[in-house]
Formats: sequence, structure tokens, C-alpha cells
Amino acid sequence: MTVLPIRTIPDPILMRKAKRVRIVDDSIKKLISDMLETLHAVPGRVGLAAPQIGISQRVIIISLPSEENDEEKGGDIVIINPEIVKRFGKRPVDEGCLSVPGYRGEIKRAESVTAKGRDQNGKEIRIKTGGLLAQALEHEIDHLNGTLYLDHLEGTNNLRRIELEEAPL
Ligand SMILES: [Zn+2]
Repeated sequence: MTVLPIRTIPDPILMRKAKRVRIVDDSIKKLISDMLETLHAVPGRVGLAAPQIGISQRVIIISLPSEENDEEKGGDIVIINPEIVKRFGKRPVDEGCLSVPGYRGEIKRAESVTAKGRDQNGKEIRIKTGGLLAQALEHEIDHLNGTLYLDHLEGTNNLRRIELEEAPL
């Protein structure tokens, strides 16, 4: 496992649509372990998408802070070829991104989502959730489509500068 540098804007890989994973081979397994190690090395981290470490493949990981953990959501969630299949409601959220250092912004996200995909063993996963996990799923899946939270801002008034140590999403 290796901690890799996180790509930041305006790196073009962040604007590109990532490729679907066809088979979970050793290179995908290595990618997942590098992503986990990279995410765990960042304080206040919530999630990471493969393009953020320079690999344009459809893999995301989410690791919620411990106070958000419960039986269902605990630990690291790895999803290959994730998709949002249902969204419900809208709510304002405060969001940041490891690839957009120094800023946070207020945007609208779904109140709850249903996402599906596969885990690293090829087993189908389906997650129906709200709260921070729903926000993280939308945020990380957006990365696979070349979309940043900045693209959802309704105006630059909703974007603010932050100290770098504030928790990113
Ligand atoms: Zn991000």
C-alpha cells in the first residue's frame, strides 16, 4: 500500500469521465488498497474517488468519521462501478473536497439516495441512506463523471475560503 498525492484542480483527470471496471484484477485490488491508505492519511477524511489519485477508473471509497458510524455504516465502504439509482428530496449541505483545497461551499444534495455497485469480491451492494453517507455517495460518484461540487454551486457567494485544517469531504 502506498499513500499517493491527491490531484487538485485544475488537473484534467478531475474533469474526465472515468472508465467502468470490467474485472477486479490485481491492479484494481492495488488501487483500492492505495486509495484506503491515502484516505486514512488525511485528517477529517470522508471519501475518495480513484481519479483523485490519478486513476481514471470507477472506484470510490467512503470512510465515515467514528461518530457517524453505526452497525450498518461502520468501517470502510468500497464500491466498484457505483451508481445512484434513486434520489429523494433536496437539502442544503456544507461541502468541501480534497481536490479543491482551501474552500468549502453550500450546495444542495438529496435528502436520501439509493446507490448500487459491487464490492471488491464482485458481490452486489445496495445502500439506501441519508445524512453524511448519502452526501458522500453523491460527491464521490460525481467525481467519476468529472463533476465537482463547484459545478453545483448556485453562485460564488456560496463559496468560502477556509483554513486548510478544516475537515474536507
Ligand atoms: Zn471530492
